[in-house]
Amino acid sequence: MIEQTTMIGNFVLFGPPGSGKGTQATRLAQSLQLEHLSTGDLFRQAVQNKTPLGLKAKEYMNAGKLVPDDVIIPMVEERLLQLDSSQGFLLDGFPRTIPQAEQLDQFLKKQNRSINKVLWIDATDEICIERLCNRSSCSQCGAIYNAMTQPPKQENICDQCQSPLRVRDDDKSKTVAHRLKVYRQESAPLVEYYKSSHRLFWVDGSKNPEIVFKSLENML
Ligand code: AMP
Repeated sequence: MIEQTTMIGNFVLFGPPGSGKGTQATRLAQSLQLEHLSTGDLFRQAVQNKTPLGLKAKEYMNAGKLVPDDVIIPMVEERLLQLDSSQGFLLDGFPRTIPQAEQLDQFLKKQNRSINKVLWIDATDEICIERLCNRSSCSQCGAIYNAMTQPPKQENICDQCQSPLRVRDDDKSKTVAHRLKVYRQESAPLVEYYKSSHRLFWVDGSKNPEIVFKSLENML
């Protein structure tokens, strides 16, 4: 655990579905006292609460498609305005397209803020598929498990809060394949976008979560 007294910056965790972004973002945000903003979590919450946003997002999520930029960008901007600007933030799952990244930079610039580093957790499709197809998460606290590598102590019950575990609708194998295709086509171009502004840092996401966490923590 690192003791944090000053704002260390604003960061993006980037990588394919199944690379471990959610697990790492939760740990890093706690360890470095960053505000954690997961767009996937925001959508899942909206779907659960059956809000108009949730109803709109659900069909895209279940099909493994990206929610359109004109829906997600205003939602993220609104959330960013609510954050305490004296504390750094960690974005998990956003941006995922070049227009999202450009708009984010422009939006932050107007407030004299910026994205300082983008941490790219890289992993092959084979590894991501294997992880996503074995993944479950807690219906209450969101803790993530893997049936092969990190099973809960009691089957289908969260170790931390004893609530039932569930499998995400978009972790079904057909949807997983489409999500990876969408990542390669629409999100992978962000590598060049952030490389060209010297903000990209690469991490080998095929390693075990503890090693990945240490690498990320050192980079921040
Ligand atoms: P995640 O939990 O990050 O894998 O996100 C789950 C789903 O939410 C994605 O497959 C998309 O349908 C939607 N989503 C999350 N973040 C974004 C984003 N930045 N742009 C578009 N759709 C998103």
